[in-house]
Parts: sequence; structure tokens; C-alpha cells
Amino acid sequence: MIVVLKNGVTEDKRDRLIDWLKGQGLTIHISEGQFQTVLGLVGDTTAVDMDLIASLAIVDSVKRVTEPFKCCNRKFHPEDTVVDVKGVKIGAGNFVMIAGPCSVESEEQIVGIAKAVKASGAHMLRGGAYKPRTSPYDFQGLAATGLELLKIARAETGLPIVTEIMGTGALDLFMDVDVIQVGARNMQNFDLLKQLGKLNKPILLKRGLAATLKELLMSAEYIMAGGNENVILCERGIRTFDDYTRNTLDLAAVPMLHELTHLPVIVDPSHSTGLARMVRPMSLASAVVADGLIIEVHNDPMNALCDGAQSIRPEEYDKLLKDVYKVREVAVG
Ligand code: PEP
Ligand code: MN
Repeated sequence: MIVVLKNGVTEDKRDRLIDWLKGQGLTIHISEGQFQTVLGLVGDTTAVDMDLIASLAIVDSVKRVTEPFKCCNRKFHPEDTVVDVKGVKIGAGNFVMIAGPCSVESEEQIVGIAKAVKASGAHMLRGGAYKPRTSPYDFQGLAATGLELLKIARAETGLPIVTEIMGTGALDLFMDVDVIQVGARNMQNFDLLKQLGKLNKPILLKRGLAATLKELLMSAEYIMAGGNENVILCERGIRTFDDYTRNTLDLAAVPMLHELTHLPVIVDPSHSTGLARMVRPMSLASAVVADGLIIEVHNDPMNALCDGAQSIRPEEYDKLLKDVYKVREVAVG
């Protein structure tokens, strides 16, 4: 349920209403917009007397929110959320470029790529230390050592680091990571999502391979219901019947998500397509609707330990980044 307050309501009157609502066992999310204050009521609202609330002098309107996702619902929070990663802002027109290899392979590799993408203008460095591989015989990532190498690359470049967590067991090792990524395969690892909800740290939540937008938003809801509102959503392609590309980039998901939620939404054109030559056109297309792009960049794709086929080279990234901004200038302003 949402309660929209009238303009100019005093803090004292607002707080008295909030206390009364809390007394009914509800959690209240306050969204202070430029023009309106919206109270989001979360919990069992079946016994709440809507007519009584609507009759109060300070209340403009009361509506039931029928969608099962509440905290991430745009109705609860009409203005775009801006997630701040050590000063790098995402959302509400703040566009971010995240780049780096699929996996951290060595200090030389990650520092070299970090320096290259930073010189091109990337805002954050990605790199997997814990890799969710389909085959147990494939490279599984450097684990804790990989995280240390990412921190070295961060110290050398100043780029915040984005890296994937695979389970709650490794949580302690991620406390110094700037953005914790939940990969497609873990989108519905509810135990993990609940733990991440207790942190005050940005979470990059990727859409599951066969997840609907509602399921993606319900997973975001798990994190937000725990109190962590710093969630960035990522469209990374879904399974369809076509197999020329690794996945199918569901680009319409992005403007649809923007309607449904206030959270920032980025696109991963690398995993969406699985083909390096598709990364450029899909990045340019995504730049029109998304709040950012996460792109796999490798200095030696032919010898990459993971996802070489979809990795672009630093010089290709350099040109792509400039062209992404040209597209945005024309399309977004
Ligand atoms: C990744 O970002 O390296 C990754 C494994 O992504 P996804 O979970 O989208 O497959
Ligand atoms: Mn990858």
C-alpha cells in the first residue's frame, strides 16, 4: 500500500502518522521526492483501514500496490534511485561503463587491463575471482587470490571493483569489494540474497537465464527487504530457442524495468551474445536505454581462461566507449 502525502506536511505530523502505521506491525519506506512524499507500507496491510487513512488532512491519496514487489516498485519510490559506488553514480541519467576480463588470471593481466580500460574512460573494473562454470573441469577462478589481485588493480588505477560472489561461505572475503555481483545462476539463491540485504554495499544483480522480470524484481526485493537499497539490475540475455548467439539479449526488458522499478538497469552485451563481434552493435543499441554497460575486455582473448570468444580487446573497447557516448548524446541528450 502507498500513502501519498499532501505538499508541505510538517515533519511532526508525518512522523505521527508513521508511528501509528508502525504500531500496526508495518515497515514504512519513506520516499522524499522533489514534489511529493510517498510512504510505502510493507507487511500485512489487509487489516489497514484505507478509508481512515485517506480521510486524514495530511493525506493526498492511498493506493494498494498489487504487484508482489514493493521496495523496488516505482510506485513506492517515483524518482530514479542513484546508486553511489565510491563517488561513481549510477541511475537517473548517470551512465556507467564497467569493463574487465571474465576472470582474473594474473596480476599482470588484471592490472594491465585495468590501466587500459581506465585510460579509455571506464568507471569500474570487473573481473571474476569465483567463477560459476558449467563444467567442473574448467577453470574455476583464482578465488581469494583473485580478490587480492583485483585490489591491487584498484590501488593502481583507482577504479572500484565489481566481482561475483557464489555463496554465503565467502561473504567475509567480499567486505572490501566495491560492488558485489550476483550472477545469473545465483539470482534465486535466496539465502545469499538475504545475507546481502544486511550489507550496506552496492549489489549488481544479474537476471537469471530463464527468469521473468517479475522474478528478477522479487530477487531484488529480497535484498531490499533486508535494508540494502543499493541494487543495480543487469540484463544479460536469456535462454530462447535460437542458438546462433549464446543468449538472447532482451533489450525491451530495460525500458520495461524502468517502468516497473526505480532501480538502475545496466546491460551486459558480452554474455548476452557470446560473440566479440556482436558486442559493439549491442552496446550501441543498449546505450540508448540502459544506465550502463558491463563489457568483457581481455588483452589476449585467444588465450583467455574463460569467455575469450566474447571478449573484446582494449583498443576495440577504447573506440566503443567513445561511440557509446556519441550515441547517448544523440539519443538521450
Ligand atoms: C560473469 O559476469 O562473468 C558471469 C558469469 O555472468 P552471468 O552470471 O551473467 O553468466
Ligand atoms: Mn564471463
